[in-house]
Amino acid sequence: MSNKCLQCKAKYHCCKNGFAFVGIEDAKQIKETTGKEYTEFLDYSELSPDVLQIVQSGDPVHESSLRNYLLKDNKILRLQKRGRNCVFLKEGKCSIYTIRPKICQMYPHWCMRLLDGTLKVIDHDDNYCLVRNSTTLRTEDEEKLFKLFRDILDEGQYYKEHIDEFVKEHNIR
Ligand code: SF4
Repeated sequence: MSNKCLQCKAKYHCCKNGFAFVGIEDAKQIKETTGKEYTEFLDYSELSPDVLQIVQSGDPVHESSLRNYLLKDNKILRLQKRGRNCVFLKEGKCSIYTIRPKICQMYPHWCMRLLDGTLKVIDHDDNYCLVRNSTTLRTEDEEKLFKLFRDILDEGQYYKEHIDEFVKEHNIR
């Protein structure tokens, strides 16, 4: 979340509406740094029919494709909400900013892989996003986003193979 988020007309839409996917490595880092138990900040309940519909009908170019791929029995690991807010949104700011999940670090950007295998940075379609609308990405920013994107895909693969045992071992629902 940048300073521009504080002026967001949509009132931090990205941290309020929807949900933030958490990889297992993301979750471990949050637990180690905050000292919280997994059950205090993770949610692995079934998505409600309306949210499920949004996830499944999302633009496949954007992160919906990842969320769809990771969905299992209508569930995906995510940060808990308090009302509409992410559990870590405190007084309008992300309280775990430096260790926020990688998906949050990429926002409002995403990447797509071109036919020749190279990556291209793309934006979410939230046209009110002040960060998206005012940021000109430098080469080093793009490189950082490419690395995050690759890490998210790797973590997604690990998630796919280990999520069942992870939620069972830690009693996450
Ligand atoms: S972890 Fe931080 S950036 Fe991510 S949704 Fe929650 S409050 Fe927003």
